[in-house]
Amino acid sequence: MTFASERQSLCEALHALSRSGLSPGSTGNASVRVEGGMLISPTGLACADIDASQLVFVNHRGEVPGKQLRPSSEWHMHLAIYRSTEKAGGIVHCHSRYATTLASLRKVIPAYHYMIAVGGGDNIRCADYATFGTEALARNILVALENRKACLMANHGQIAYDSTIEKALSLAIQLEDLAAGYYQAQTLGEPFILGEKEMAEVLEKFDTYGEQAGF
Ligand SMILES: [Zn+2]
Repeated sequence: MTFASERQSLCEALHALSRSGLSPGSTGNASVRVEGGMLISPTGLACADIDASQLVFVNHRGEVPGKQLRPSSEWHMHLAIYRSTEKAGGIVHCHSRYATTLASLRKVIPAYHYMIAVGGGDNIRCADYATFGTEALARNILVALENRKACLMANHGQIAYDSTIEKALSLAIQLEDLAAGYYQAQTLGEPFILGEKEMAEVLEKFDTYGEQAGF
């Protein structure tokens, strides 16, 4: 039960998250689903400094067996997502600047750009506020993630999941870019928002061509 390849993938994703600039200081955490639970980054370490042996196994009951580092304080929300959907294989959470800016205003990101569909729907919701690391926050996130793979978190940041940790990281980076674009568009005026019919067409194309297609 060493999960060597999963440890390697998660470690590489954490280092890439650090290089992306989306996880300043010791903020940001990530996890991957493994048999019987998940591997998650430990609490209190900068993503760039974490090595594969320091990743923490948390079982599906939320227990940390044996002698390990303490898991990220935000492990509840990671485990809640894995429990809620089989589609989640990896999760990235961070306090990236623009996502956090919009989340501080508790804004939903509407379809000002068709790529909003990468989150799985025609907007990116903002989960209600609750104290970090609590089960209440995990519950709020599940509400915002209904039929979505990513959301903002009020007065906190963003969270994204996908079938693999690599895809989850890519989604978190795209969400930050979409948040920045929405912020910038609003400095010039009120962005035009794509309608339901237009976004339905985009979502259908995303379904048809899959995530590997170049948009
Ligand atoms: Zn956080």
